[in-house]
Amino acid sequence: SGSFLSVRDLHVRFSTEDGIVKAVSGLSFDVERGTTLGIVGESGSGKSVTNLAILGLHNPASTEITGEIVLDGQKLTGAPEKTLESLRGNKMAMIFQDPLTALSPYYTIGRQIGEPYRKHMGASKREARERAIEMLAKVGIPNPQRRVDDYPHQFSGGMRQRAMIAMALVCNPDLLIADEPTTALDVTVQAQILDLLKDLQQEFGSAIIFITHDLGVIANMADDIMVMYGGRAVERGTAKEVLRAPQHPYTWGLLGSMPRLTGDVNQELRPIEGTPPSLLNPPSGCPFHPRCEFKDKVPSGVSCSQDRPLLPEGRGAACHLTAEQKQTYFIEQIKPR
Ligand code: SF4
Ligand code: MG
Repeated sequence: SGSFLSVRDLHVRFSTEDGIVKAVSGLSFDVERGTTLGIVGESGSGKSVTNLAILGLHNPASTEITGEIVLDGQKLTGAPEKTLESLRGNKMAMIFQDPLTALSPYYTIGRQIGEPYRKHMGASKREARERAIEMLAKVGIPNPQRRVDDYPHQFSGGMRQRAMIAMALVCNPDLLIADEPTTALDVTVQAQILDLLKDLQQEFGSAIIFITHDLGVIANMADDIMVMYGGRAVERGTAKEVLRAPQHPYTWGLLGSMPRLTGDVNQELRPIEGTPPSLLNPPSGCPFHPRCEFKDKVPSGVSCSQDRPLLPEGRGAACHLTAEQKQTYFIEQIKPR
């Protein structure tokens, strides 16, 4: 396929003491240059695992990956670690939730931000330090000339988060994966960071995968949305389509009170009743059936607990309800009670 990032029939399995964890099952999606894909779902839905697999950051000893991941024509699945290493921090970069996973306590902030720039861009020490100062300024660190020589422990939590974002952006990556990058930041800094990501995207045409629980951020950042449940994609479409007329009962539960009703998009996704499915023994049929209040409404002859609903290409949801039912039940969901 000609997509910038193409993921096809991805399966990720881990061996654990208790058995094989099927973390991701049969996942396919595309991300184009200059666009942002928002991935939503509860923890354990496979969002983070998918992204670690793209970056080749999974543990090869305990992880089995099948399917195909292609970035800009280059196959990442099965690529040697050396190839992946030369892509990471350069062509593709990741912003983690927790800055301490990315920052070492032993080196100055400036050295760590400058390191990928030296390694991938062949910059000198001096150039890398200048670039680090520039990046610290871009992410809104005051006195970057002075702070560049600080160690991570001299930074506040919010500043470390911004330093890590600076490090991810230092080589203007073509693919940026951001896993809940702004959750820990206050609203003003969060807005700054999101603007920075948008600028980067405009300037360099980067593709962004954005994992978040924050509906406001999704509505603001994502062009497309993919909803994941139990290691599978259960709904996808443009952000407008998914936020305005979601089709999957799980998405209805996630979105809860819809932004368009309250006018307030700065709300968290609502926790839904029941527990996420076991990935050791995934449910048969529709993975959502144990929690779904609509499973008795599907057309006769179809069984939610036995027949796995398929996710169509493009806009759609993996659910046995008819198109009409999806519309009617959603409207019933959002009626003021
Ligand atoms: Fe619910 Fe059945 Fe649709 Fe799954 S396929 S979401 S169980 S109605
Ligand atoms: Mg996660």
